[in-house]
Amino acid sequence: MHVSLADKVVLVTGAGRGIGRALAEAMAASGAAVAVHYHRRADAAEALAHALGGGAFAVGADLEHPDACRRLYDAVLARYGRLDVLVNNAAIAEALPLDMPLADWQTAWDRAAAVNLRAPELLCRLALPHFLARGGGRILNVASRAAFRGDTPDYLVYAETKAGLVALTRSLARAFGRRGVFAFTLAPGFTRTDMAQDFIDRYGEAFALQDLAADRLTEPRDIAPFAVLLASGLADHATGCTIDINAASYVH
Ligand code: NAD
Repeated sequence: MHVSLADKVVLVTGAGRGIGRALAEAMAASGAAVAVHYHRRADAAEALAHALGGGAFAVGADLEHPDACRRLYDAVLARYGRLDVLVNNAAIAEALPLDMPLADWQTAWDRAAAVNLRAPELLCRLALPHFLARGGGRILNVASRAAFRGDTPDYLVYAETKAGLVALTRSLARAFGRRGVFAFTLAPGFTRTDMAQDFIDRYGEAFALQDLAADRLTEPRDIAPFAVLLASGLADHATGCTIDINAASYVH
């Protein structure tokens, strides 16, 4: 089987590091032109885009803000004239302890909801008319095991937003498949990235490993091949599905 993304334009949010970076690398290695979205570290994203080649370019946006999401989408369209695959990968996983001041909780909750859920939906809303006008497109939303299993009390909003992302994906899949728009959820379990490091610092690596039916933590490179396959068009009849990549730590 030959899996190719030749001639495809892919936007990966949060592509400067972690899972997003691995997705961008795998997409580019499979022939795609990749828009490498980043939040703060322009230098790292630009270096990555340069290394990827194939027309990759780096584009910054703080996804907390709807106007920035729109500018991001417009910049990608201006650069390539089209988009084939939208990968909503960027997210915040911030611990919000039950005993934190409620005013702080509210601010942080709003921020997490904006980045993890509103921004992906907004980017989907922006891309959909384009996809429909061109006869199709693909959406990959990176959720989490936490959407299904739940998370610890410190990460309630994280689990909530990821569950919302799954519902968004399924709704889009049901609504637009006949018109060529296919939507998929990738649901990693604990994966070794900067985000996971915060959790490891809080709970310890043994806690993260204890549930896994594997002798090592999942790495970003374990996620990427699924994204390439889903983006390629070879798996469109799996639209609406969730690909669990969690080493059997939560099978639902
Ligand atoms: P990460 O923290 O390395 O990456 C998150 C990305 O989101 C970063 O590139 C960051 O810049 C971006 N981001 C955060 N806030 C942003 C903002 N306001 N505006 C724009 N971009 C912003 O973490 P990761 O582990 O690579 O996470 C990637 C995806 O995988 C996330 O959706 C995460 O929820 C999901 N995930 C991770 C794990 C894990 O254990 N690492 C498990 C399940 C799901």
